[in-house]
Amino acid sequence: MHELAVCQGLMAQVDQIARREAAERITRILLSIGPLSGVEATLLREAFPIAAAGTVAEGAELAIEEQDVKVKCLSCGAESAARANRLLCAACGDYRTRLISGDEMLLMSVELERRENA
Ligand SMILES: [Zn+2]
Repeated sequence: MHELAVCQGLMAQVDQIARREAAERITRILLSIGPLSGVEATLLREAFPIAAAGTVAEGAELAIEEQDVKVKCLSCGAESAARANRLLCAACGDYRTRLISGDEMLLMSVELERRENA
């Protein structure tokens, strides 16, 4: 499952943050996922507890927010929101656009608990 690998990569990132912050436990993880990132939020939620088991993030809440799809028009230069399956410029209707958001998976924030005597 692709999403499990994605989750494991995420756990490595979260683990680094936990070490840096001397955190004992991660309680919440906020992700931003673009509809064109190739990552399914539903599958990610299923894979998360498996990837998190035995890590500092075990039992953490996984919050996922969906990214807007935005394009920059190569014809008129406008930046506009687009639909994932129809990347047209909203200003002039040109199809020659460059994707500027909507294809990423970003770790937005983590909430953590620190050790008592850290
Ligand atoms: Zn345009």
